[in-house]
Amino acid sequence: METKIIPIEEGNINKAALKEAGKIIKNGGLVAFPTETVYGLGGNALDEAASGKIYRAKGRPSDNPLIVHICRMEDLYPIVREAPEEAMKLAEAFWPGPLTMILWKSDKIPYTTTGGLNTVAIRMPRHKTALAFIEEAGGYVAAPSANISGKPSPTLAKYVIEDMDGRIDMILDGGGIEIGLESTIIDLTEEVPMILRPGYITKEMLEKVIGHVETDEDVLKHGTGQAPKAPGMKYKHYAPKGELTIINGSRGRVIEEINKRSREMREKGEKTGIIGTEDTIAFYEGDVIKSAGKREEEATIARALYRILREFDDEGVSVIYSESFEGTAGIGQAIMNRLLKAAGYHIETV
Ligand code: AMP
Ligand code: MG
Repeated sequence: METKIIPIEEGNINKAALKEAGKIIKNGGLVAFPTETVYGLGGNALDEAASGKIYRAKGRPSDNPLIVHICRMEDLYPIVREAPEEAMKLAEAFWPGPLTMILWKSDKIPYTTTGGLNTVAIRMPRHKTALAFIEEAGGYVAAPSANISGKPSPTLAKYVIEDMDGRIDMILDGGGIEIGLESTIIDLTEEVPMILRPGYITKEMLEKVIGHVETDEDVLKHGTGQAPKAPGMKYKHYAPKGELTIINGSRGRVIEEINKRSREMREKGEKTGIIGTEDTIAFYEGDVIKSAGKREEEATIARALYRILREFDDEGVSVIYSESFEGTAGIGQAIMNRLLKAAGYHIETV
């Protein structure tokens, strides 16, 4: 299949291109598009066959549910059995934006979109291109991240092209992504609202609007052995090809420990990669040293993380050490959640 790649600036909406993209979706095809979190791989959420195509393009198991993206508040009601008060308050506070809510689905949403579940994950993104595209596409776009299953979510168009060229109909190239980590997911079908995936919208932000919220146990530690809340949670998360270890501790001790391990590994012939921050990278000894950004500006770290992990794979690094971002507020928990998963929860304190 030939994939059309169309550059499109967020502030300069190309109506003709978006119309064409919308038509592809209405005809059952697939289009990758930028959002503020990561690139999405979109298909018509109301079309049973489209989700099958998404799963095939990604190489993703078909019981891993998709998020339905909408562009107008009134489009929420037809796809849910009920819209609880909490959902309304959260939508008012955080939509359009990087928050996904899980609600009971109506018959309008096929089971192929929800991986067989009676619940549906819904988000209204705030990226202007995404909103305009969803509107042209008929209002309901099912979209997981636009990566091949087993790779990090794409935060740059070049990674979407790398993974999806030849597999889908169109890629809307919106350049770099603002946030860089997937949306916060909150499940509103349980008695107590439950965060299934941390993101830019934090627990504290959610609690200010709807009161007590819990966080799923799997977020910052190993699986508890219980049945996973969402089918998707049982699948192995992306892990880099190189073995990743997170080293936690005071700045000086961490630098010392990472350098010691890196030296030992290099003596054994391994190619080492190190993830530091702007004020520490000068002190590291390794084959490939990367700054994730500024510790005081954690948004820079969120934005860089998936790109860095992809680069390590491309550079053939076999052992990776990363500083820990534990204890940072705001999006810090989301950063640690993705980093811990990539490390297979391998973290050591020195
Ligand atoms: P991605 O589209 O790659 O960001 O992944 C979407 C994730 O959303 C899935 O892996 C699930 O964990 C979660 N999800 C989607 N729909 C549901 C649902 N109905 N219930 C619980 N989790 C869901
Ligand atoms: Mg994904």
